[in-house]
Amino acid sequence: MLRFYNTLTARTEDFIPLEDRKVRMYICGPTVYGFAHIGNFRTFLFGDILRRHIRHSGYELLHVMNITDVDDKTIRNSIAAGLSLREFTDQYIAAFHEDCQRLRLEQPELVVRATDHIQEMAHAIKQLQDKGFTYTSEGSIYYRIANFANYGKLSKIDVEGMMAGARVDNDEYEKADARDFVLWKAPKEGEPFWETEIGPGRPGWHIECSVMAGKYLGDTFDIHAGGVDLAFPHHENEIAQSEALTGKQFVRYWLHAEHLLVDGQKMSKSLGNFYTLRDLLDKGYSAESIRYLLSSVPYRKQLNFTLEGLRQASAAIERLRNFRFRLANSDIPEGVHTEIQAKAAAFPSAMRDALDDDLNTAAAHGALFELVRDANTAIDAGQLRKSNVAGLLAAIDEWNIIFDVMPLESGIGAGNSNGRLSPEQVEAKLAARVDARKQRQFALADQIRDELIEAGIIIEDSKGGSRWRYK
Ligand code: AMP
Ligand code: ZN
Repeated sequence: MLRFYNTLTARTEDFIPLEDRKVRMYICGPTVYGFAHIGNFRTFLFGDILRRHIRHSGYELLHVMNITDVDDKTIRNSIAAGLSLREFTDQYIAAFHEDCQRLRLEQPELVVRATDHIQEMAHAIKQLQDKGFTYTSEGSIYYRIANFANYGKLSKIDVEGMMAGARVDNDEYEKADARDFVLWKAPKEGEPFWETEIGPGRPGWHIECSVMAGKYLGDTFDIHAGGVDLAFPHHENEIAQSEALTGKQFVRYWLHAEHLLVDGQKMSKSLGNFYTLRDLLDKGYSAESIRYLLSSVPYRKQLNFTLEGLRQASAAIERLRNFRFRLANSDIPEGVHTEIQAKAAAFPSAMRDALDDDLNTAAAHGALFELVRDANTAIDAGQLRKSNVAGLLAAIDEWNIIFDVMPLESGIGAGNSNGRLSPEQVEAKLAARVDARKQRQFALADQIRDELIEAGIIIEDSKGGSRWRYK
């Protein structure tokens, strides 16, 4: 049974979607005012593992991600760059998608841009006006939080004694500054604005997500997630807007991912203590080791980022590769080692139990490495048998369906080959090439190599043999 810690109820609860076997989920996407940093990607990778586990558990999934392409920061930076908001954000949206692909993040079923929904946002604000939740000041429209009975229920802030009518114009602010927040901003000299039924202006950040989530997922849906810094004010304000609009519960399970830290502080653009994915790839670290590192600590625990941690992640993947290599290349006698067989067969349910437990990724990794260690010990002792190999490979594949760190790195290959030559096919061709060379049929060997390159396989020859990966 899948269980999640729900920020709303402050408890770990059984997950029961509204509609049997179908999950509706919204995860706040990037604000595209620069390259995302790997702190952002910790949260997006948490979303990827969440979606993979939900689907692997047999649910149909509708996962929506927004792109915040209009807010204080995108406007500020587009003006600084001398570009229109659209031109400016287009380049960072493209960069974000590229980074997601490199990190093997699955595409949500729907990715939607805030600026494609401005009229719908204006309409929602009009409805909030009609229902008496707003007031206008100097052309901007504010949400009066005193009129929403449950304001603070998600982040548990105490709204008693707050100055009535004090308001905030910024999209981001601290809990101590809980105020009436801005829904619609009056046009400012030199800033983009839209003509709408509530007049000219542009939306505040919070109304964007309420409108897009409601449009694609309905008044009430199952899961809403994001980084822990979004719980207040962003998600609190989304609840206030959406529930005031519909009179219904907005979201049933709220999930918040803890931060990636650097020396004990949140990795953030404003502190300047960040790495982008590109920074790390340029330094020679692999996307897979970043993926592994970011998944190695359960999402509700903080994770301190270090380059040493990244090297250890790379070593962990290497251990799996070597293990696969050993299984493929050792002279393993016929028969079966019953204890290893039973452990390998139990692995999928051990992994499922770990992930069902509020996505305990560390326990899932632990279960796999325990199996690998036991099997290595059995190989060392000459006790592993041929019939164990398939079960062990299947266990790694099972793990890799969720964690997906093998295909690009693996010299032996695993998991999902995405319609390309399968790892087994590549291995077979490489073996044929070795044979051809042994028989001094060099033209044939070269022909096989060319075929592999043509098929998008990168081959690295070294003294110890050849390694390969997908391009
Ligand atoms: P933004 O692009 O600033 O809207 O952030 C995108 C996502 O990254 C949000 O869910 C944030 O909560 C999350 N985020 C920002 N900084 C970090 C961090 N250091 N660690 C984990 N998640 C973060
Ligand atoms: Zn959002």
